[in-house]
Amino acid sequence: MSLPASAPPVANSARLYYPNKMVRIILLAMEEVMGRNGVNAVLNLAKLRHLVNNFPPNNFDRQISFEELGAMMQSLDEMYGPRGGRGLALRAGRACFKYGIREFGPVLGIADLAFRLLPLTMKLKVGADVFAETFNKFTDQTVTLSEEPDRFLWQNTRCPMCWGRQSDTPCCHLAVGILQESLYWVSGGKNFEVQETACIASGDEACTFVIDKKPLD
Ligand SMILES: [Zn+2]
Repeated sequence: MSLPASAPPVANSARLYYPNKMVRIILLAMEEVMGRNGVNAVLNLAKLRHLVNNFPPNNFDRQISFEELGAMMQSLDEMYGPRGGRGLALRAGRACFKYGIREFGPVLGIADLAFRLLPLTMKLKVGADVFAETFNKFTDQTVTLSEEPDRFLWQNTRCPMCWGRQSDTPCCHLAVGILQESLYWVSGGKNFEVQETACIASGDEACTFVIDKKPLD
């Protein structure tokens, strides 16, 4: 008796993932901003019931798909409306950085004295490079950085925040919050204008975040 040929493996390798650790950070940050009940409501609406009261473990396994992250962000907008959802995502993004730097800070080398002594523009450049590299290394997100005289361009050519979404206006607000807070931290307490000017969810080739080199204050 011959066994049936096994089915071809599900094309799981084609899907894109974030590591558990980073999604855990996002959920902890959302919890800080909207409470556990708020996060659970968002997860339920996004059909991610397996994450309700069951945040991913604190490890680097890539187990949360971009589909799941996009659905989470979509639900935030659906529940609170585009304006409310945007405000919460920005605040959650800023809170992400605080949890993130606890986990990743020691390996990034940007808390060193040598870094702190760099002039501001160089700090921003080195900091942005290090952050982009962190996403490129630990996630399936792809980031390219470029520089113009007055600004940096951070581009996600694969972006989990808007994965599977359609939007008339750029909608990767959580990423804007993370960038704002990381610039605040890298500069030793200055605020920078960060604007998403193009978004894959609106039909653009990349989610593009424009960062002014000159601080607001
Ligand atoms: Zn995006």
